[in-house]
Amino acid sequence: MLASVLSATLDGLDALAVSVEVDVGPGLPSFAIVGLPDAAVCEARERVRSAIRNSGFDLPPRRVVVNLAPADRRKEGPAFDLPIALALLVATGQIAPDAVTGYLALGELALDGTLRPVPGALAAAEAARGLGARGVLVPAANAREAAVLEEVTVYGLGALRGAVEHLAGRAPLAPVPAARDDPPPAGAPYPDLADVRGQPAARRALEVAAAGGLNLLLVGPPGVGKTMLARRLPGLLPPLALEDALEVTKIYSAAGRLPPHAGLRWHRPFRSPHHTASAAAVIGGAGRPGEVTLAHRGILFLDELPEFRRDVLEALRQPLEDGAVVVARSHGTVRYPAACTLVAAMNPCPCGYRGDPRRPCTCTPAQVQRYLARLSGPLLDRIDLHVEVPRPAAGGALGGKEPEPSAAVRARVLAATTRAAQRRAAWNDHPPPRGTEAWWPADRSALALVRAAADRLMLGARATNRVLRAARAIADLDGAQAVTASHVAEAVRYRVLDRPAALDA
Ligand SMILES: [Zn+2]
Repeated sequence: MLASVLSATLDGLDALAVSVEVDVGPGLPSFAIVGLPDAAVCEARERVRSAIRNSGFDLPPRRVVVNLAPADRRKEGPAFDLPIALALLVATGQIAPDAVTGYLALGELALDGTLRPVPGALAAAEAARGLGARGVLVPAANAREAAVLEEVTVYGLGALRGAVEHLAGRAPLAPVPAARDDPPPAGAPYPDLADVRGQPAARRALEVAAAGGLNLLLVGPPGVGKTMLARRLPGLLPPLALEDALEVTKIYSAAGRLPPHAGLRWHRPFRSPHHTASAAAVIGGAGRPGEVTLAHRGILFLDELPEFRRDVLEALRQPLEDGAVVVARSHGTVRYPAACTLVAAMNPCPCGYRGDPRRPCTCTPAQVQRYLARLSGPLLDRIDLHVEVPRPAAGGALGGKEPEPSAAVRARVLAATTRAAQRRAAWNDHPPPRGTEAWWPADRSALALVRAAADRLMLGARATNRVLRAARAIADLDGAQAVTASHVAEAVRYRVLDRPAALDA
């Protein structure tokens, strides 16, 4: 007898509906899966067989063929265990055929029939909604992530037995309530800037980066708090909008990185891959989103930037420019969102103590040059703000007033981003001249200063544009409508690595 159950497989971040067809017929006992399954899907045979028996159902010794349609797309992972088992139970007369109609099912089966979570439950629920499915059957640990969508009925299952009892109407389950928790209070759960003493220049650069969504490079000797500063940036940013929170949740769901029973993921990601990470891990590859996508709408922190592999740094340029990354896989390419803020940190030289009053630098000029040369110009051109994080003079930083908390900075950032959004909205009525959108309007002296700085620092068009973006963010923090020379002057100071001799001062 023939039976089919609806399921889904991930295609990038979205789910593609898959029809799981099972035919049980006469012939020597066998169990074949066709329709471009990967190794994990093929292993479903063993899991499904054991789970069915151990759940108290029968698997007659017949010839079983499972087809996953459409057959021309590769199917990945163990999520087809549940739909295969359900279709088998229909085909062997243990579930009524119309009981499964209209349900979309996914989940990995343990040998005893319990259900284990799988990646992509949110995307599958979205596909189910698009198809007008009657309900989505997912493992209980995935139920809340699937239930962040509205207009789709989600059932969380503990085991195969419970799924069958529900479908047969003997023990109907209640749908999982919507899992759109309220957003957490502003600033939670990030560490606070009040913990950071001194470092006025770096604190200011963090504020400018937050206001403009700008990439930031912190340059300073080991142990001065570069990582501590970077970790405080997400707490200076405005809270995620609902649609961004949904997108971030979908990314983490597809990557299988949501904790069990997680609902909507409201907080901004902070990702800090190690410098030995491969290009596939950072950029994405083989159908998996990389760190740059896991950092979408949040922070990608690269500590010891020059130590990262050259191919990784080169590959980062395109996502930093486009806010998205295109990854090759077996069938064409997939595009992942990657609108993150890059925060990088590095020592000023290989030994780390160049410009440090406490210890002499032991590097030769040639060593320093080679170290800095590891950062290609095109990558530096995509970092808006370079700022020094010097070692505070002994005892000096501890005196004086208490450090400002994140909440105060966040309020100024919010005022600046609101102002920027209003200006962009006004551009619909009065568009700025082409190519000046990032910083318009600006006064005459600002323009003159930009030209002079570009000449003096030999800034290319891209680096000049970074200066203008930074100047615009500084003007917005200042509450100024037009960018002035003083805003540009501060922005130019954030090009430390365009004049590396400045680090020796
Ligand atoms: Zn050194």
